[in-house]
Amino acid sequence: MQLYQKQPLKITNSLTGKKEIFEPIDEGHVGMYVCGPTVYSNVHLGNCRTFMSFDMIFRYLRHLGYKVRYVRNITDAGHLVDDADEGEDKIAKKARLEKIEPMEVVQRYTIDFHNILDQFNFLPPSIEPTATGHIIEQLEIIKEILAKEYAYEINGSVYFDVKKFNKDYDYGKLSGRKLEDMIANTRELAAQSEKKNPQDFALWKKAEPEHIMRWPSPWGDGFPGWHLECTAMSTKYLGETFDIHGGGMDLKFPHHECEIAQAEASYGHAPVHYWMHANMLTLNGKKMAKSTGNNILPGEIFTGENDILSKPFTPSVVRFFMMQAHYTSILDLSNDALLASEKGFYRMMEAIDNLNDLGTKGTSDFNVPEWRQKCYDAMNDDFNTPILIAHLFEGVKHINLIKEEKENITAQDKELLQQTMHDFVFEVLGLEDKSEGNQDSNKLQGVVELLIQLRNEARTNKDFATSDKIRDQLSAMGIQLKDGKDGTTFSVS
Ligand SMILES: [Zn+2]
Repeated sequence: MQLYQKQPLKITNSLTGKKEIFEPIDEGHVGMYVCGPTVYSNVHLGNCRTFMSFDMIFRYLRHLGYKVRYVRNITDAGHLVDDADEGEDKIAKKARLEKIEPMEVVQRYTIDFHNILDQFNFLPPSIEPTATGHIIEQLEIIKEILAKEYAYEINGSVYFDVKKFNKDYDYGKLSGRKLEDMIANTRELAAQSEKKNPQDFALWKKAEPEHIMRWPSPWGDGFPGWHLECTAMSTKYLGETFDIHGGGMDLKFPHHECEIAQAEASYGHAPVHYWMHANMLTLNGKKMAKSTGNNILPGEIFTGENDILSKPFTPSVVRFFMMQAHYTSILDLSNDALLASEKGFYRMMEAIDNLNDLGTKGTSDFNVPEWRQKCYDAMNDDFNTPILIAHLFEGVKHINLIKEEKENITAQDKELLQQTMHDFVFEVLGLEDKSEGNQDSNKLQGVVELLIQLRNEARTNKDFATSDKIRDQLSAMGIQLKDGKDGTTFSVS
């Protein structure tokens, strides 16, 4: 018997707004598609949270014994600066500004994306397809939608006819919108627009002569609309109907709504059984935005090179912090919140380290099987990681009591306790015990601070030969000293 047969899982389905029992299409198998990044800049911390939520979901489904095919795409073309199908391609714009090839932009930021996700200990998806690798599949879907007369061609572009589609299907069911309200709330169609209605969206856009990213099509040279790639890639690898489609809350409308419309228009039925949306991350109570400076990159948190946090935090601490909130809740990142998570994380790691050395007795004061099931119950309730973590700390409390010989545990219960901690902390939450490495970095910090102190003494004594020697030799080892008005700090490159 597989674990998933004993542990019924409930998922909040954005399509119905209800928590539903999860039943995959093929018993024992799960197909899951998550909208990946548009690779034109360093990956945002907010996007990392979304992808981390689905990494945890992927991990738990696997833990339950499901064979999961997890597809997460890379958007390397078609995502325009303006959501109303106007403006430049985000990647082409970056390429123009930096005077490099669009594919150099794609390569650079795909590497950055993978590098950051590796540091966060993500599992790689089963397939990571790219939009430019699936132009042919996208053209086929456009032809199908045109044949079904839910799209129209005009001046070398093809648009999805939302009004026509809405007569036969329901446009807006995922985001809870009605087309009539959308029409009532939009101003007149811009005079230069060639769309029949402002709600229509591009399936194919004609490429102007200056547009570098272009492909031939039956309607002339152009490029696919952003929403189309996900329909093409999800159905190619997971089938016309699949189990789970996920993404950030901001993608619900229009992106996911358009994906549903495209699939229904071409296949005649809904593509996805369970839609899941991860909520956003704020910074110090405000929306993160590069333009306001209220922004921090994952790499800047790990190195400590930022003006927002008092110290560096390891990827595992940041991951632990993110797992302390339910994926559907807004989470606020702040220095205090990270400091608290860091404390909790090391307390948990210390308890896990101590677990091996616990002595056993003939009886247990801690009902381990019941506690293990509580951990499952939390995860089965729509992946409730904050409740799971609260239960894990209950385990930590007992480990500490047993260590202090205030409680007893049998050998069998001790083994189950170890297994449960391992399953949920490392396998499901994806945390890594880097406490050894952390002790090393604490030692390094102590040594460098001692050298800074010796250098300051040398400078006070006007022994500049010694003070320069300390600075230069540290620099040769990749440790840079920086003198500021509050004293000397250092960074390791
Ligand atoms: Zn998508």
